[in-house]
Amino acid sequence: MTESRSETSFRDEILAFYKGADTESLMARARELCLARHGRGVLLRGLIEYSNICSCDCLYCGIRASNRNVSRYRLEPERIAAIASSGYRAGLRSFVLQGGEDRAFAESALPRAVETIRRDCPDAAITLSSGILPRRIYAALREAGADRYLLRFETSDPALHQKLRAGVNLGRRLEALRDLADVGYQLGSGYMVGLPGESEETRIANALLCRDLALDMVGIGPFIPHPDTPLAGSPQSPIELTLRATSLVRLLLPDAHMPATTAAGSLDPAGREKMIEAGANVLMPNITPPESKRNYLLYPGKICLAEEGEKCIGCLGLRMVSVDRELSFLRGDALRLGQGAGAGDRAPAEVLL
Ligand code: SAH
Ligand code: SF4
Repeated sequence: MTESRSETSFRDEILAFYKGADTESLMARARELCLARHGRGVLLRGLIEYSNICSCDCLYCGIRASNRNVSRYRLEPERIAAIASSGYRAGLRSFVLQGGEDRAFAESALPRAVETIRRDCPDAAITLSSGILPRRIYAALREAGADRYLLRFETSDPALHQKLRAGVNLGRRLEALRDLADVGYQLGSGYMVGLPGESEETRIANALLCRDLALDMVGIGPFIPHPDTPLAGSPQSPIELTLRATSLVRLLLPDAHMPATTAAGSLDPAGREKMIEAGANVLMPNITPPESKRNYLLYPGKICLAEEGEKCIGCLGLRMVSVDRELSFLRGDALRLGQGAGAGDRAPAEVLL
Protein backbone atom coordinates (compact mmCIF):
# COMPACT_ATOMS: atom_id res chain seq x y z
CA MET A 1 0.00 0.00 0.00
CA THR A 2 1.40 3.42 -0.89
CA GLU A 3 1.73 5.92 1.91
CA SER A 4 -0.07 9.23 1.70
CA ARG A 5 2.06 12.36 1.80
CA SER A 6 0.76 13.32 5.24
CA GLU A 7 1.59 9.84 6.58
CA THR A 8 5.11 10.14 5.17
CA SER A 9 5.67 13.56 6.70
CA PHE A 10 4.25 12.37 10.05
CA ARG A 11 6.75 9.52 10.13
CA ASP A 12 9.60 11.75 9.00
CA GLU A 13 8.88 14.28 11.73
CA ILE A 14 8.74 11.63 14.48
CA LEU A 15 11.91 9.92 13.27
CA ALA A 16 13.82 13.19 13.02
CA PHE A 17 12.82 14.03 16.59
CA TYR A 18 13.72 10.52 17.81
CA LYS A 19 17.15 10.63 16.21
CA GLY A 20 17.99 14.10 17.53
CA ALA A 21 16.53 13.92 21.05
CA ASP A 22 18.33 12.78 24.17
CA THR A 23 16.53 10.01 26.03
CA GLU A 24 15.08 12.31 28.68
CA SER A 25 13.43 14.67 26.16
CA LEU A 26 12.23 11.75 24.05
CA MET A 27 10.61 10.15 27.11
CA ALA A 28 9.07 13.45 28.22
CA ARG A 29 7.32 13.97 24.87
CA ALA A 30 6.08 10.37 24.73
CA ARG A 31 4.89 10.53 28.35
CA GLU A 32 2.93 13.75 27.70
CA LEU A 33 1.27 12.18 24.69
CA CYS A 34 0.43 9.06 26.69
CA LEU A 35 -1.12 11.12 29.50
CA ALA A 36 -3.15 13.15 27.00
CA ARG A 37 -4.53 10.03 25.25
CA HIS A 38 -4.84 7.58 28.14
CA GLY A 39 -4.85 9.62 31.35
CA ARG A 40 -3.04 8.81 34.61
CA GLY A 41 -4.58 5.35 35.05
CA VAL A 42 -2.32 2.39 34.33
CA LEU A 43 -4.35 -0.60 33.11
CA LEU A 44 -3.92 -4.00 34.74
CA ARG A 45 -3.86 -7.33 32.90
CA GLY A 46 -3.58 -10.47 35.02
CA LEU A 47 -1.06 -12.81 33.38
CA ILE A 48 -1.64 -16.57 33.53
CA GLU A 49 1.25 -18.65 32.18
CA TYR A 50 -0.83 -21.74 31.48
CA SER A 51 1.79 -24.01 29.87
CA ASN A 52 5.52 -24.11 29.15
CA ILE A 53 5.21 -26.89 26.56
CA CYS A 54 6.32 -25.62 23.17
CA SER A 55 6.95 -27.21 19.80
CA CYS A 56 9.19 -24.32 18.69
CA ASP A 57 12.87 -23.86 19.20
CA CYS A 58 13.37 -20.08 19.18
CA LEU A 59 17.06 -19.50 19.90
CA TYR A 60 16.37 -16.77 22.47
CA CYS A 61 13.81 -18.56 24.63
CA GLY A 62 14.41 -20.46 27.87
CA ILE A 63 11.44 -22.81 27.36
CA ARG A 64 12.38 -23.77 23.76
CA ALA A 65 11.66 -27.38 22.88
CA SER A 66 15.30 -28.50 23.05
CA ASN A 67 15.95 -27.20 26.54
CA ARG A 68 15.98 -30.44 28.56
CA ASN A 69 16.46 -28.61 31.87
CA VAL A 70 12.87 -27.38 31.97
CA SER A 71 10.30 -29.18 34.06
CA ARG A 72 7.24 -29.04 31.78
CA TYR A 73 3.65 -28.36 32.84
CA ARG A 74 0.20 -27.65 31.45
CA LEU A 75 -2.53 -26.26 33.70
CA GLU A 76 -5.94 -27.89 33.36
CA PRO A 77 -8.67 -25.67 31.87
CA GLU A 78 -10.58 -25.68 35.17
CA ARG A 79 -7.42 -24.56 36.98
CA ILE A 80 -6.81 -21.74 34.50
CA ALA A 81 -10.40 -20.55 34.95
CA ALA A 82 -10.13 -20.77 38.75
CA ILE A 83 -7.00 -18.57 38.70
CA ALA A 84 -8.84 -16.03 36.56
CA SER A 85 -11.84 -16.10 38.92
CA SER A 86 -9.59 -15.42 41.87
CA GLY A 87 -8.08 -12.46 39.99
CA TYR A 88 -11.59 -11.31 39.11
CA ARG A 89 -12.53 -11.27 42.79
CA ALA A 90 -9.43 -9.13 43.40
CA GLY A 91 -10.80 -6.63 40.88
CA LEU A 92 -9.05 -7.60 37.63
CA ARG A 93 -11.13 -7.23 34.46
CA SER A 94 -8.54 -8.25 31.90
CA PHE A 95 -6.61 -11.52 31.64
CA VAL A 96 -3.78 -12.69 29.40
CA LEU A 97 -3.38 -16.43 28.91
CA GLN A 98 0.14 -17.10 27.67
CA GLY A 99 1.93 -20.32 26.81
CA GLY A 100 4.20 -22.20 24.47
CA GLU A 101 3.10 -23.01 20.93
CA ASP A 102 1.13 -26.20 21.49
CA ARG A 103 -1.47 -26.90 18.83
CA ALA A 104 -3.06 -29.90 20.56
CA PHE A 105 -3.67 -27.94 23.77
CA ALA A 106 -4.90 -24.88 21.86
CA GLU A 107 -7.41 -27.05 20.06
CA SER A 108 -8.69 -29.14 22.95
CA ALA A 109 -8.20 -27.57 26.37
CA LEU A 110 -7.77 -23.85 25.70
CA PRO A 111 -11.30 -23.28 24.29
CA ARG A 112 -12.73 -24.82 27.47
CA ALA A 113 -10.63 -22.51 29.64
CA VAL A 114 -11.77 -19.50 27.61
CA GLU A 115 -15.45 -20.54 27.73
CA THR A 116 -15.33 -21.01 31.49
CA ILE A 117 -13.67 -17.65 32.08
CA ARG A 118 -16.20 -16.00 29.76
CA ARG A 119 -19.01 -17.60 31.81
CA ASP A 120 -17.59 -16.86 35.28
CA CYS A 121 -16.08 -13.43 34.57
CA PRO A 122 -18.56 -12.14 31.96
CA ASP A 123 -17.34 -8.56 31.75
CA ALA A 124 -13.61 -9.37 31.68
CA ALA A 125 -11.45 -9.16 28.57
CA ILE A 126 -9.65 -12.35 27.58
CA THR A 127 -6.38 -12.12 25.68
CA LEU A 128 -4.48 -15.09 24.30
CA SER A 129 -0.77 -15.37 23.55
CA SER A 130 -0.29 -18.88 22.23
CA GLY A 131 1.89 -18.45 19.18
CA ILE A 132 1.21 -19.27 15.53
CA LEU A 133 -1.82 -21.49 15.06
CA PRO A 134 -3.99 -22.40 12.06
CA ARG A 135 -6.61 -19.76 11.32
CA ARG A 136 -9.45 -22.16 12.16
CA ILE A 137 -8.11 -22.52 15.73
CA TYR A 138 -7.88 -18.73 16.08
CA ALA A 139 -11.50 -18.58 14.92
CA ALA A 140 -12.61 -21.30 17.37
CA LEU A 141 -10.94 -19.52 20.28
CA ARG A 142 -12.52 -16.24 19.24
CA GLU A 143 -15.87 -18.05 19.11
CA ALA A 144 -15.21 -19.43 22.61
CA GLY A 145 -14.98 -15.86 23.90
CA ALA A 146 -11.41 -14.58 23.50
CA ASP A 147 -11.25 -10.87 22.62
CA ARG A 148 -7.60 -10.13 21.97
CA TYR A 149 -4.41 -11.84 20.82
CA LEU A 150 -0.74 -11.03 21.34
CA LEU A 151 1.80 -12.32 18.85
CA ARG A 152 5.05 -10.39 18.75
CA PHE A 153 6.83 -10.35 15.39
CA GLU A 154 10.07 -10.34 17.49
CA THR A 155 12.20 -8.59 14.84
CA SER A 156 11.30 -7.06 11.49
CA ASP A 157 14.64 -8.11 9.96
CA PRO A 158 13.65 -11.14 7.80
CA ALA A 159 17.08 -12.85 7.87
CA LEU A 160 17.50 -12.37 11.62
CA HIS A 161 13.93 -13.52 12.24
CA GLN A 162 14.45 -16.73 10.29
CA LYS A 163 17.70 -17.46 12.12
CA LEU A 164 16.44 -16.72 15.64
CA ARG A 165 13.11 -18.48 15.17
CA ALA A 166 14.84 -21.65 14.00
CA GLY A 167 13.66 -21.49 10.40
CA VAL A 168 10.13 -20.07 10.82
CA ASN A 169 10.03 -17.01 8.62
CA LEU A 170 8.75 -13.50 9.22
CA GLY A 171 6.21 -13.87 6.42
CA ARG A 172 4.48 -16.71 8.31
CA ARG A 173 4.35 -14.59 11.48
CA LEU A 174 2.79 -11.69 9.57
CA GLU A 175 0.30 -14.03 7.92
CA ALA A 176 -0.78 -15.20 11.39
CA LEU A 177 -1.23 -11.56 12.45
CA ARG A 178 -3.40 -10.98 9.39
CA ASP A 179 -5.49 -14.06 10.24
CA LEU A 180 -5.98 -12.78 13.78
CA ALA A 181 -7.14 -9.38 12.56
CA ASP A 182 -9.51 -10.96 10.02
CA VAL A 183 -11.03 -13.22 12.65
CA GLY A 184 -11.83 -10.12 14.71
CA TYR A 185 -9.32 -9.97 17.54
CA GLN A 186 -7.99 -6.77 19.05
CA LEU A 187 -4.45 -7.14 17.81
CA GLY A 188 -1.20 -7.02 19.75
CA SER A 189 2.34 -7.55 18.53
CA GLY A 190 5.77 -6.16 19.29
CA TYR A 191 9.41 -7.13 19.55
CA MET A 192 12.44 -7.65 21.71
CA VAL A 193 15.08 -4.95 21.94
CA GLY A 194 18.79 -5.78 21.79
CA LEU A 195 18.73 -9.09 19.94
CA PRO A 196 22.20 -10.13 18.73
CA GLY A 197 22.56 -9.03 15.10
CA GLU A 198 20.08 -6.17 15.38
CA SER A 199 21.09 -2.58 14.51
CA GLU A 200 19.61 0.84 15.18
CA GLU A 201 18.08 0.59 11.70
CA THR A 202 16.35 -2.63 12.74
CA ARG A 203 14.97 -0.93 15.84
CA ILE A 204 13.52 1.89 13.75
CA ALA A 205 12.06 -0.60 11.25
CA ASN A 206 10.52 -2.54 14.17
CA ALA A 207 8.70 0.56 15.42
CA LEU A 208 7.52 1.45 11.90
CA LEU A 209 6.19 -2.08 11.39
CA CYS A 210 4.05 -1.61 14.52
CA ARG A 211 2.51 1.42 12.84
CA ASP A 212 2.06 -0.41 9.51
CA LEU A 213 0.18 -3.13 11.37
CA ALA A 214 -2.11 -0.54 13.05
CA LEU A 215 -1.70 -2.44 16.31
CA ASP A 216 -4.07 -2.04 19.25
CA MET A 217 -1.40 -3.27 21.68
CA VAL A 218 2.39 -3.21 21.46
CA GLY A 219 4.60 -5.30 23.74
CA ILE A 220 8.27 -4.38 23.84
CA GLY A 221 10.91 -5.71 26.18
CA PRO A 222 14.66 -6.13 26.44
CA PHE A 223 16.13 -9.41 25.18
CA ILE A 224 17.76 -11.10 28.19
CA PRO A 225 20.16 -13.95 27.28
CA HIS A 226 19.19 -17.27 28.86
CA PRO A 227 22.07 -19.57 29.91
CA ASP A 228 20.42 -22.74 28.52
CA THR A 229 20.03 -21.39 24.98
CA PRO A 230 22.34 -20.96 21.97
CA LEU A 231 22.32 -17.19 22.69
CA ALA A 232 23.71 -17.64 26.21
CA GLY A 233 26.89 -15.65 25.55
CA SER A 234 25.18 -12.68 23.85
CA PRO A 235 25.68 -9.22 25.34
CA GLN A 236 22.92 -7.63 27.43
CA SER A 237 21.62 -4.38 25.94
CA PRO A 238 21.15 -1.45 28.35
CA ILE A 239 17.60 -0.60 29.49
CA GLU A 240 17.93 2.75 27.72
CA LEU A 241 17.48 1.07 24.33
CA THR A 242 14.13 -0.35 25.47
CA LEU A 243 13.06 3.03 26.86
CA ARG A 244 13.88 4.76 23.57
CA ALA A 245 11.97 2.08 21.66
CA THR A 246 8.96 2.50 23.96
CA SER A 247 8.89 6.25 23.40
CA LEU A 248 9.27 5.91 19.64
CA VAL A 249 6.36 3.46 19.42
CA ARG A 250 4.22 5.69 21.66
CA LEU A 251 4.86 8.66 19.35
CA LEU A 252 4.03 6.57 16.28
CA LEU A 253 0.97 4.90 17.83
CA PRO A 254 -0.61 7.33 20.33
CA ASP A 255 -3.66 5.09 20.95
CA ALA A 256 -1.91 1.76 21.46
CA HIS A 257 -1.94 0.04 24.82
CA MET A 258 1.66 -0.67 25.80
CA PRO A 259 2.74 -2.73 28.80
CA ALA A 260 5.67 -1.87 31.02
CA THR A 261 7.03 -5.38 30.72
CA THR A 262 8.26 -7.80 33.36
CA ALA A 263 11.45 -8.27 31.31
CA ALA A 264 12.22 -4.55 31.83
CA GLY A 265 11.58 -4.98 35.58
CA SER A 266 13.88 -7.99 35.60
CA LEU A 267 16.72 -6.17 33.85
CA ASP A 268 16.44 -3.06 36.05
CA PRO A 269 14.68 -2.93 39.45
CA ALA A 270 12.90 0.26 38.32
CA GLY A 271 12.54 -0.89 34.72
CA ARG A 272 8.74 -0.94 34.71
CA GLU A 273 8.46 2.52 36.29
CA LYS A 274 10.92 3.79 33.67
CA MET A 275 8.84 2.26 30.87
CA ILE A 276 5.74 4.03 32.25
CA GLU A 277 7.74 7.25 32.19
CA ALA A 278 8.70 6.46 28.59
CA GLY A 279 5.08 6.17 27.45
CA ALA A 280 3.77 2.73 28.50
CA ASN A 281 0.28 2.55 30.11
CA VAL A 282 -0.27 -1.09 31.13
CA LEU A 283 1.08 -3.43 33.82
CA MET A 284 0.76 -7.20 33.90
CA PRO A 285 0.71 -8.67 37.41
CA ASN A 286 1.63 -12.34 37.13
CA ILE A 287 -1.18 -14.36 38.76
CA THR A 288 0.24 -17.76 37.78
CA PRO A 289 0.65 -19.97 40.87
CA PRO A 290 4.28 -19.78 42.10
CA GLU A 291 4.94 -23.52 41.57
CA SER A 292 4.20 -23.07 37.84
CA LYS A 293 5.65 -19.65 37.17
CA ARG A 294 9.06 -20.72 38.44
CA ASN A 295 9.14 -23.15 35.49
CA TYR A 296 8.14 -20.49 32.97
CA LEU A 297 11.52 -18.87 32.56
CA LEU A 298 11.75 -17.33 29.11
CA TYR A 299 14.79 -15.44 30.41
CA PRO A 300 16.79 -15.59 33.66
CA GLY A 301 16.30 -13.28 36.66
CA LYS A 302 12.51 -13.07 36.29
CA ILE A 303 11.01 -11.10 39.16
CA CYS A 304 8.10 -11.86 41.53
CA LEU A 305 8.53 -15.65 41.31
CA ALA A 306 7.53 -16.29 44.92
CA GLU A 307 4.60 -13.86 45.07
CA GLU A 308 0.94 -14.76 44.77
CA GLY A 309 -0.80 -12.61 42.17
CA GLU A 310 -2.84 -10.48 44.55
CA LYS A 311 0.33 -9.35 46.36
CA CYS A 312 1.69 -8.21 42.99
CA ILE A 313 -1.24 -5.83 42.61
CA GLY A 314 -0.45 -4.11 45.92
CA CYS A 315 3.22 -3.81 45.04
CA LEU A 316 2.42 -2.37 41.60
CA GLY A 317 0.07 0.18 43.18
CA LEU A 318 2.91 1.50 45.35
CA ARG A 319 5.29 1.55 42.42
CA MET A 320 2.83 3.64 40.40
CA VAL A 321 2.50 6.18 43.22
CA SER A 322 6.27 6.68 42.88
CA VAL A 323 5.73 7.91 39.30
CA ASP A 324 2.56 9.86 40.13
CA ARG A 325 0.21 7.37 38.48
CA GLU A 326 -2.56 5.08 39.69
CA LEU A 327 -3.80 1.60 38.87
CA SER A 328 -6.89 1.23 36.69
CA PHE A 329 -9.14 -1.84 36.92
CA LEU A 330 -10.97 -1.13 33.64
CA ARG A 331 -11.00 -3.68 30.81
CA GLY A 332 -8.98 -1.30 28.66
CA ASP A 333 -10.26 -2.11 25.18
CA ALA A 334 -8.64 -0.66 22.07
CA LEU A 335 -9.46 3.04 21.95
CA ARG A 336 -10.78 2.73 18.39
CA LEU A 337 -13.70 0.68 19.78
CA GLY A 338 -14.88 3.58 21.93
CA GLN A 339 -15.62 3.48 25.64
CA GLY A 340 -17.49 0.50 26.96
CA ALA A 341 -17.25 -1.24 23.60
CA GLY A 342 -17.54 -4.99 23.56
CA ALA A 343 -15.19 -7.35 21.84
CA GLY A 344 -17.39 -7.98 18.86
CA ASP A 345 -17.13 -4.50 17.44
CA ARG A 346 -13.80 -4.75 15.67
CA ALA A 347 -13.55 -2.41 12.76
CA PRO A 348 -12.50 -3.98 9.45
CA ALA A 349 -8.95 -5.26 9.64
CA GLU A 350 -6.47 -2.61 8.71
CA VAL A 351 -3.32 -4.62 8.41
CA LEU A 352 -1.21 -2.88 5.85
CA LEU A 353 1.06 -5.63 4.61
N1 SAH B 1 4.88 -18.83 22.65
C1 SAH B 1 4.26 -17.57 22.44
C2 SAH B 1 4.08 -16.78 23.71
C3 SAH B 1 5.10 -16.99 24.79
S1 SAH B 1 6.67 -16.30 24.50
C4 SAH B 1 5.05 -16.76 21.43
O1 SAH B 1 6.22 -17.03 21.23
O2 SAH B 1 4.44 -15.86 20.85
C5 SAH B 1 6.33 -14.58 24.86
C6 SAH B 1 7.41 -13.62 24.46
O3 SAH B 1 8.54 -13.77 25.30
C7 SAH B 1 7.98 -13.80 23.07
O4 SAH B 1 7.14 -13.19 22.13
C8 SAH B 1 9.35 -13.11 23.20
O5 SAH B 1 9.31 -11.78 22.69
C9 SAH B 1 9.61 -13.07 24.72
N2 SAH B 1 10.88 -13.73 25.06
C10 SAH B 1 11.26 -14.99 24.79
N3 SAH B 1 12.55 -15.20 25.18
C11 SAH B 1 12.99 -14.02 25.71
C12 SAH B 1 14.25 -13.59 26.27
N4 SAH B 1 15.30 -14.39 26.36
N5 SAH B 1 14.33 -12.31 26.71
C13 SAH B 1 13.27 -11.48 26.65
N6 SAH B 1 12.07 -11.83 26.11
C14 SAH B 1 11.93 -13.09 25.65
FE1 SF4 C 1 7.99 -21.29 22.17
FE2 SF4 C 1 7.23 -18.71 22.35
FE3 SF4 C 1 9.52 -19.60 23.50
FE4 SF4 C 1 9.38 -19.46 20.83
S1 SF4 C 1 9.26 -17.71 22.30
S2 SF4 C 1 10.21 -21.20 22.03
S3 SF4 C 1 7.23 -20.00 20.47
S4 SF4 C 1 7.44 -20.16 24.04
